[in-house]
Amino acid sequence: MKHLQLFFLSLILFVTISAIRVLGEELRIDADFPGGNIKVLSIDGDTVKLQQDLRDTNGSWFYWSFRIRGAEGRKLTFVFTNPVIGARGPAVSNDNGWTWRWIGELGFSATKFQYQFGQEDKDVYFSQGMNYTEKNLKHLLEKYKNHPYLKVESLCKTKKGRNVELLRLFNNETVPKFKVFLSSRHHCAEMMATYALEGIIETALSETDDGQWFREHVDFFIVPLVDKDGVEDGDQGKNRRPHDHNRDYIQRIYESVQAITEQVPKWLDGKPLFYMDMHCPGFRYGDDPLHLEKGTHEYVYFVGIDPKEFEFGEKSWQGLQRFGTILEKERKGTIPYRALNNLPFGISWNTSANKKTTNLRKCCEWGATLPNVVFASAIEVPFANAEGTVVDTDSAKALGHDLARAIRLYLETLE
Ligand SMILES: [Zn+2]
Repeated sequence: MKHLQLFFLSLILFVTISAIRVLGEELRIDADFPGGNIKVLSIDGDTVKLQQDLRDTNGSWFYWSFRIRGAEGRKLTFVFTNPVIGARGPAVSNDNGWTWRWIGELGFSATKFQYQFGQEDKDVYFSQGMNYTEKNLKHLLEKYKNHPYLKVESLCKTKKGRNVELLRLFNNETVPKFKVFLSSRHHCAEMMATYALEGIIETALSETDDGQWFREHVDFFIVPLVDKDGVEDGDQGKNRRPHDHNRDYIQRIYESVQAITEQVPKWLDGKPLFYMDMHCPGFRYGDDPLHLEKGTHEYVYFVGIDPKEFEFGEKSWQGLQRFGTILEKERKGTIPYRALNNLPFGISWNTSANKKTTNLRKCCEWGATLPNVVFASAIEVPFANAEGTVVDTDSAKALGHDLARAIRLYLETLE
């Protein structure tokens, strides 16, 4: 009888342990974190079918980011219903989205990738790019929290009640000669631009000669996460209905655009203004990972504005070319840049037809209408590949350092 009891007890224990093991091995895929975006269509053995969540996007776009748990030790294949994987494959993070790397070397296509999970890989994040959300910005601000020239203000609250950070960099004890406006994430999924923006901020706050010069001459107005709700919610942002944040500078339906257009003119104070809005361009899908020479959207460039529509348009293009020559010459980072790659108005996608109606105006176009503007443009920082060079968090920041240096030299020649 005792033996029988022991047998049943052992059996119950065995079944329980097995059940826990099975539960533990169950794949869990979610987007329940800042920047998360995924639709899981099916999980069939080792194959996961997925789709990016378009939400309020007009047409299609390519942003996605998910977390997977319970895949320890397994090799899984991820298949998307349409092309959303770029030139270097997906980005992966094994530390809750703090650091990222491209996994292109493992083999992938525009719609499919595989990943071998290690035994310790409990939480793994995958993304179309290298996620940059509020937590990254907070981390940066923490690093500089006692810096005497950085003031963290609030630009406004979003529709969902989130705070939109406004960074002011200036020296109280000098009268700055120049004003510099910088922004990113008018298109919330264009995260690589924000790493480059971090690079500019790093230089402006550094103890280098350039840092000193900025603090003697410049008053910065920086909005790193313009579409804050989109950044945190993991939206596509681009081509959002009825129009996206970067097309909102006439209708001004978004709180952050309202705040920028109200506060910037007051802040200007009659000073020469350098106005740069930072973006990532379109996306070349990763059909051919070994073919990484210059493809569409895979180089750094600035975007010209319409000289017919804007009085500053012609001068803006000349300024852009002058700035481009400086940046080309001074570049120290690995990401290549050539002024020749700048996109004049009327070429490629940069046409009035693309604006659809004249009741839409971009951030950099609005900047071009401001008094004493000396530079107004948008920069495009590729997501993964710039003329064969890797774009990642480090190289994008280094591009930011180069941009900061070029901004200084550009403004110095105006003195
Ligand atoms: Zn954009």
